[in-house]
Amino acid sequence: MPVLYNRNVKHWDVIIVGGGVIGLSLAMRLRDYHRTVLLIEKHEPAGEASHAAGGMIANCDPHTPAALQPLADASASLYPEFVREVELESGESADLRDAGTIAVFADDEVSTHTGVHQLSAADLAHLEPSLCLDRPAWYLPERCVDPRGLGLALTKACKKRGVDFVTGSQVLEVLTAGGRATGARTSHASYHSGIVVNCAGAWASQVAPLVIPTRPVKGQMVCVVPQSSTAHGGPLIQHVVRTPDIYIIPRSDGRILLGATVEEAGFDKRTDPQTVQRLYNAGLQAAPVLQSTRIHDAWAGLRPGSPDNLPILGETAIPGYFAATGHYRDGIMLAPATANAMVQLITGQQPFLDLSPFSPLRFG
Ligand SMILES: Cc1cc2nc3c(=O)[nH]c(=O)nc-3n(C[C@H](O)[C@H](O)[C@H](O)COP(=O)(O)OP(=O)(O)OC[C@H]3O[C@@H](n4cnc5c(N)ncnc54)[C@H](O)[C@@H]3O)c2cc1C
Repeated sequence: MPVLYNRNVKHWDVIIVGGGVIGLSLAMRLRDYHRTVLLIEKHEPAGEASHAAGGMIANCDPHTPAALQPLADASASLYPEFVREVELESGESADLRDAGTIAVFADDEVSTHTGVHQLSAADLAHLEPSLCLDRPAWYLPERCVDPRGLGLALTKACKKRGVDFVTGSQVLEVLTAGGRATGARTSHASYHSGIVVNCAGAWASQVAPLVIPTRPVKGQMVCVVPQSSTAHGGPLIQHVVRTPDIYIIPRSDGRILLGATVEEAGFDKRTDPQTVQRLYNAGLQAAPVLQSTRIHDAWAGLRPGSPDNLPILGETAIPGYFAATGHYRDGIMLAPATANAMVQLITGQQPFLDLSPFSPLRFG
């Protein structure tokens, strides 16, 4: 009788390489379709770009490339339900806020997104009295989320749903047999599956045998908190604020984030004091009320950029080997729609939107 498979070797339907928001969101969705999932993470889940991010769901931003707008809008509209589901299952808060964004655009920029409107001086003074902006301000109907809370919530929700985790193990190579993906090899062990998805963010290109062409794009960020330990009652600023020089993101617990640089600096994650001070000064200029804060923390993370700075989503040249990476500056925003579309692709359905602009095959 032929031996069809080795009973002693555990087999999963899908192996996900990398446990940032993209890998975790996809793992969670795959369990909706009863797929068995192993997520392999080289450190701890949600510890890299997904830990460093600001968490703006900036689908009204004029910088959003036209090709990305449908995915951005779909993902932004999925967010409330996505967060509700993950919070309910995990018991953790992702601090989804929907006060909206107040933006000042550069000279040649305009947002034609539905719901965006210019604010009169009186409107601005009413909405966010503490701002000092040197150009006309616009209201953008956007949300923001705390990516750290979201990462923790997603990790717990995945575990609750039965996703298996291997942490502290770097995937070196996707295994193949007969030209198809058959699993993944780390420095410690080999794991077997019918499908492998590369969600390794800025490190995606390091997984052999294909080069999925992401690159690290460094972002430094500063977190300020009220100086007075008696200051309670939420953040000093209620809206996300974006100007060409700085963005300001409030958290409900009173923290305020100031970000972020965009640097081509390889895999360097150090912060430098001059940049931290420059971000703080730019924050003070836009919102003088921040004078009553002190710098609590500063960090840097590595966004997964791609050659055209669009995500890389779909099957690679190796059947059964998929990529879901390259989300660059928008991976927090794009996680829910990416997970939905990728699950549909992986399970042989028509994705709810056209993924061809994001095909891994477009780089030749
Ligand atoms: C400063 C900053 C601000 C940002 N602000 C926003 C924002 O406001 N809104 C927004 O939408 N996005 C924002 N982003 C972008 C967002 O953080 C990223 O697009 C998103 O986190 C990418 O998620 P990911 O899961 O692809 O990558 P990551 O979160 O980096 O996860 C990749 C994971 O793969 C693991 N890994 C890598 N290689 C291997 C391997 N070989 N084997 C096993 N595991 C591996 C890593 O350890 C990591 O945990 C920001 C990013 C930065 C740096």
